[in-house]
Amino acid sequence: MSQKALRWFFPGVALLMFGTFLMALLSQYIPPNFTELLSNVTGTLSFCIMLTLVLIAVRPKAIERRLGLTNMYEVHAWMAMVLPVTLAIHVFIRWSGLENVLTLNLTNTSILGYVGLTSLIIVMLTGIFVLSDTIIKKSKQLMNLKNKANRNFHLWLHRLAIVSIVGIHFHVYNVEYLLDNTPFRLLATVYTVLVLGWYAIYKIRLARLPKYQVIRTHQPSPKIHEIELQPTKGDRMDYQAGQFGFFRFVDSQVSSEAHPFSFASSPTRNQDTIIVMIQEDGDFTSTLANVKEGDQVTIEGPYGDFYPAEVRDSNEPMVLLSGGIGLTPSLSVLREEIAQNSDRRIVFIWGVGYEDQLMFYDQLKDLSNKYPNFSHHIIFSEEEVDGFPHGFVDNDFIHAEGLEEFYQTATWHVCGPPPMLEAAKSLLAENNVTEDQLNIEEFAF
Ligand SMILES: Cc1cc2nc3c(=O)[nH]c(=O)nc-3n(C[C@H](O)[C@H](O)[C@H](O)COP(=O)(O)OP(=O)(O)OC[C@H]3O[C@@H](n4cnc5c(N)ncnc54)[C@H](O)[C@@H]3O)c2cc1C
Repeated sequence: MSQKALRWFFPGVALLMFGTFLMALLSQYIPPNFTELLSNVTGTLSFCIMLTLVLIAVRPKAIERRLGLTNMYEVHAWMAMVLPVTLAIHVFIRWSGLENVLTLNLTNTSILGYVGLTSLIIVMLTGIFVLSDTIIKKSKQLMNLKNKANRNFHLWLHRLAIVSIVGIHFHVYNVEYLLDNTPFRLLATVYTVLVLGWYAIYKIRLARLPKYQVIRTHQPSPKIHEIELQPTKGDRMDYQAGQFGFFRFVDSQVSSEAHPFSFASSPTRNQDTIIVMIQEDGDFTSTLANVKEGDQVTIEGPYGDFYPAEVRDSNEPMVLLSGGIGLTPSLSVLREEIAQNSDRRIVFIWGVGYEDQLMFYDQLKDLSNKYPNFSHHIIFSEEEVDGFPHGFVDNDFIHAEGLEEFYQTATWHVCGPPPMLEAAKSLLAENNVTEDQLNIEEFAF
């Protein structure tokens, strides 16, 4: 199934649940008029969307591997935008405009509905304005606000989703015309227990993740921290080059909030360890100088499919195109190809801002000298550096470096910050690079 089609997987799950609810409802109760039907439909649909949003939060690996976590979170954000609409219609009808809310005629059903609604509003606000940038990324002011907010605190508030689901589940249970509708109430219970059960198992697994300890820290450039980790006992996590994990420093002087980082190591060459390279970028990453050897870390994952099986198994040319710290998954793939004694054509393109951000240059030069099938192409965007081109990775640069044939013949693996990715996507689309040739890792959700 293509990635585009797979985007409909979760909305499909919500609609499937909704279909079963509707059948159960209509089998025992025919709404007396259209308004009542609309209230039933929107209320039930809202509940199904909420349950599906929790399912996405559990990051089911089978879907994530094909759809990608960034796309999954985007589906989450868009479904979360439909929710206020369906919910508003349901609540407005139940309030008879505003009449019922003004008389404040509280029943068990309405109290539980209010609990569900209030927690849900908090959940939606934290999701839209702090935890995701899908909706707000076009507004600089909102993005500034997002970057200033305490993410950890809002993450906790976002977990009120569970309170909201429990509240709404019992709200459904107390609705008068559903009291005798066993199939409807049974479905509500089965779906709620399944989803919350899955969520609980996911959380228990997180709490029991095996520990790694920091065995080496190093700064290859002033704002980059390279950290090497080794399992405290047992085997290292099985992962593919170019994938990423959520790293939580559980016993360290830095915050224990989980952050996503790509593996920079090669799973074949680094048999027992995992290496990450992290750029100082904000509240958490700027404290990484405090990480010491012996600190304990857990890693949730692996996630991502930057270097898919069909590429690993082929010998087709490959272009690794990175911007800034987006270098990490490309480095992992390059290191893996070298460890596998690959003789495929590998083109390594790296857009760097400033001279002091250049890393591993001697190693790249050595590789180019040693392997005739490898070439590296570096360009600086923010300052002029002797011996290197100046500007962005655009069509002129690709032609100047004699790489235009790879638009047709190679798979492209692109990673970098959002503006660089947008520019790269346009460049590749203009040059007829197909979706099948393209693998993208976004360093943002
Ligand atoms: C799939 C993926 C792979 C990544 N790989 C690397 C890598 O190899 N090296 C590297 O330097 N950076 C990588 N990043 C980026 C890195 O995760 C962020 O720079 C880092 O989490 C920012 O945290 P902060 O608190 O220092 O910055 P802040 O200023 O607080 O945040 C900067 C941005 O990062 C987002 N962010 C902050 N905390 C989290 C979190 N816990 N989870 C998700 N997003 C968060 C914020 O929403 C904001 O947009 C990757 C990101 C993703 C999504």
